Amino acid sequence: MFLYDLVYRDVKSENESKRVMVALRVMYLTVFFALIAGSAVMGLSVIAGQWFRLGVVIIASVLLLIQTYYVRTVVSLWCYIAFSFVWILVMIPLEGWKAGLQNFFVPMLMLVFFGSYAKISHKFLIATVVLLIRIAFILGMSDIYVLDGFSHLQDKLLQIINVTSVFYSIVYISYYFSRTDKESEGKLVKYNDRLKEAANTDQLTGLFNRRRAEEYMEEVLRDNDGSPISVSIGDIDFFKKINDTYGHDAGDVVLKNMADIMRDTLRSDSFIARWGGEEFLIVFDNCNGDQAFMALERLRRRIMCTSTIVGDNEIQVTMTFGVSEYDFSGNMDVAIKEADERLYRGKGNGRNQVVF
Ligand code: GH3
Ligand code: MG
Ligand code: MG
Repeated sequence: MFLYDLVYRDVKSENESKRVMVALRVMYLTVFFALIAGSAVMGLSVIAGQWFRLGVVIIASVLLLIQTYYVRTVVSLWCYIAFSFVWILVMIPLEGWKAGLQNFFVPMLMLVFFGSYAKISHKFLIATVVLLIRIAFILGMSDIYVLDGFSHLQDKLLQIINVTSVFYSIVYISYYFSRTDKESEGKLVKYNDRLKEAANTDQLTGLFNRRRAEEYMEEVLRDNDGSPISVSIGDIDFFKKINDTYGHDAGDVVLKNMADIMRDTLRSDSFIARWGGEEFLIVFDNCNGDQAFMALERLRRRIMCTSTIVGDNEIQVTMTFGVSEYDFSGNMDVAIKEADERLYRGKGNGRNQVVF
């Protein structure tokens, strides 16, 4: 439980994920335990002679672990890279090449690739520096076991070839998967955008749906600085007859066409939503009732003069609109109710008209 809290505690910076920091803490703890266990195995006589070197590295690993709770991830990551170089190089002469400390470069490289947002060229540069250090060790170490029949040179070249291959395999895999990780993060963001759009849109007409309309009206009222707002409800006349005469699918095509005409005719800052079956809500921000009335008159005439072609049929419809001005009561319901009443007055007065 204590170790869990130690590793998984959140980072200081609010907008950073703690993923990299958690990995760094695990690495510092691993190094700490490797050093303690290594010291126990080497025995008191070695430790006594090398206590300064060992002590510095162990204390550094603890201090750096503590530091992960207080600094930004990028600082901590660079500290870890620097620390790895130092402790591995300091400890190799003590434990010997065959003890395998140089393998700790591998997790360091993986952290560089997965955990940092540095440029890819910088990441490859760090990997190359590490590789060169390893090659220098291979060339400098004379106590490495050589197979019968191979010269010293052949043996070293083989090691260099293999180490280089393994290194760049690790580097490539880390690069490739950290890249696809970012790609899938990007895909997820796009998918979320599409979901949001779908939640706001009416499938048939592509207009905003009622849910989004209600949300939009709240936003408009919140941002309103006292300029007029008008709302209108429009309804297709005798739409039931269209369905009965030409079929429901033809009715759908007419609905779609009405939506296209509205989008095309009204100013682009007008908010148009499908409010119900064949009813539409239009919000005119920064427009008084007279201005909205004139825009709707233009729209009404255009609808009247346009027909929708479905198969062999030319379907002609008209629309009736009720318009109302927002009364600054803090709520749009009154204005919508008034627009609705005016719409029904228009229906009673013979349809195909705008009532204000
Ligand atoms: P009014 O002029 O009084 O508005 O007459 P109306 O026939 O348009 O009014 P009514 O409310 O009687 O009929 C509306 C019709 O709209 C009934 C319904 O089947 C149809 N409708 C609603 N939603 C859709 C839809 O998505 N597609 C189609 N094709 N028809 C729809
Ligand atoms: Mg109708
Ligand atoms: Mg209706």
